[in-house]
Amino acid sequence: MIIRSDRIYTSDGCINGVLEIENGMIKEIRKGSSEEVDHDFTGNIIYPGLIDTHNHGNYGYALRNTNQSMEERMELVECYLKNLASFGITGVFPTCSYDNVSCVESVTHKKIRGSKILGIHVEGPWLARAGEKGTAAAYPQPTKEMAEQMVRDGKGMLKLVALSPEVKNIENITDVMHENHVALSMAHTSFNFQQATDAINNFHFVTATHVGNGMSGIHHRDVGALGAALLNQDIYCEIICDFIHLCKEMVEIIFKVKSHDKLMLISDNSEFTRLPKGRYKLDGGYIDSDGVNTLITNTGKIQGSNRTILNGLQNIVKEIGISLEEAWKMTSYNVCTHYGIEKRGKLEQGYYADFVVMNQNLEIEKTFLEGIEIYDSKKDQPKINELFVKENMIK
Ligand SMILES: [Zn+2]
Repeated sequence: MIIRSDRIYTSDGCINGVLEIENGMIKEIRKGSSEEVDHDFTGNIIYPGLIDTHNHGNYGYALRNTNQSMEERMELVECYLKNLASFGITGVFPTCSYDNVSCVESVTHKKIRGSKILGIHVEGPWLARAGEKGTAAAYPQPTKEMAEQMVRDGKGMLKLVALSPEVKNIENITDVMHENHVALSMAHTSFNFQQATDAINNFHFVTATHVGNGMSGIHHRDVGALGAALLNQDIYCEIICDFIHLCKEMVEIIFKVKSHDKLMLISDNSEFTRLPKGRYKLDGGYIDSDGVNTLITNTGKIQGSNRTILNGLQNIVKEIGISLEEAWKMTSYNVCTHYGIEKRGKLEQGYYADFVVMNQNLEIEKTFLEGIEIYDSKKDQPKINELFVKENMIK
């Protein structure tokens, strides 16, 4: 298959030319060619497929272990992956509960028309919730057995575990993860700058979970865990650029302080993302969704986002002035170098043909995974889990 556009964002910059795709890979990129093509996307933008490594669900499809059967839970994951393609996401680390890893892993091998599972991310349950507006602070004791079970369930797909450094006996988890080459992310911590810096070094955290959120912030006499994550140039930072989790000015500060090679846009989407506007049950309380932007719990806490990585991309390009030539590393490529995902995340000869076709407004027209169309905005509609809405909507 040969496709053309006057704006293809390759690893060598933006070109006017063609992509030749064979067996799911980019065989060749040719500049300024006038040859006949299969699809002419002139006027639209060809950009690397987005990769989201922190994403708990969407449209009522949850990745936590419910009381449903394995088959039913696997179906939820499949629907979730199909919907992700409409956000321009070609690769994802489904972010599931620690007891649902085997379910997500089982879906990895299924051929479906949707986003591809590139790894599995488990956030928690070992999170110190101090100061998080009424979120339950309790968690099970971290044991070696639990860690080993997660690794076994992942069958090599478990790539990232996020946890708080202040949790007691955390080394029961961290030691097992290190032995099995699972990356550790520092998450939900009240540690100050020095404590966070020591924790990064002692437990070898290589990622900071959604910087600025669920961590001590920057104060002029102690720059907190956020300051530790920004000043340490080895650690990669997840960043939510919806301008809700972080205000625009904080995003600007982070982009000035932190190497752009170490920033990774994430969504932190959840099963409540993109549900119809309303109030839904959540852990004995409730969560309010405005359907487009915010998800706020009954205690006033921002819990996940209604916006996607694509919205983050639009924000940093239109509002902060980051060029698309620079942005693709943060939406697609950096996660690949960081987590060892080969031949993805950029448009280059010999790489998988994972890309999106966007209009000039940076909206998704089509999504392609390994050269195959997995979403077309003119034909495909994301699907809502109606049963979830029926069971959980309060008003
Ligand atoms: Zn999360």
